[in-house]
Amino acid sequence: MADIPGHEGYAAPVLPDGELARSAGAFTRAFIGYQAACSCGWADGRRHPPTPEGAKQAEDRWTRHAGPLLLAAPPNWLVVKSNLLCEQVANLTGERPLAALTLLSQVESWQRALLDRAVAAAREGGASWSEIGDAMGISKQAAHERFRAHTEL
Ligand SMILES: [Zn+2]
Repeated sequence: MADIPGHEGYAAPVLPDGELARSAGAFTRAFIGYQAACSCGWADGRRHPPTPEGAKQAEDRWTRHAGPLLLAAPPNWLVVKSNLLCEQVANLTGERPLAALTLLSQVESWQRALLDRAVAAAREGGASWSEIGDAMGISKQAAHERFRAHTEL
C-alpha cells in the first residue's frame, strides 16, 4: 500500500457483534469477516468474507479512502527539499539576518503567486473549498474567504 503519513490501511477483522477489531496484527478471537479500515479512524461499510481473499478485498477498498489523500499529498522528495530549505533559512536567520530577510522576501513573492495559481487550478479541476481547506490545513470557510476574490469573477 502507498505511504501517507497518518493513514495506514488494513483489513480489520469484524467481531461477532459487528464491531471492528482496531488492529491489523495477529488476531485470535473469532471473527466473521473483514472490513477496510485506516489508522486515522476511517472504516469502510462493506464486509468481506473471513478468508485471505476477503482480507485482500478489504485492503483493496482502502484505496477508495486513500486515493483522494494521495492526490493531495505532495511528493516526498519535494517535502524533504522544502524542510531542508526551511532549516537552512532558519540557520541563515541566526547568522546573517539581513540576508535571510532578502531571501524570505523572494520566497514570499513567489509563494503567494503560486498559492493563488494552485487554488485557481484546484477550483478549475473541480476541487471543493473543503478539499482546498483540507490541503492547506485550514477550514473551508477560511479557504473560501481568503481566495474567492482571486478565483471567481
Ligand atoms: Zn486514513
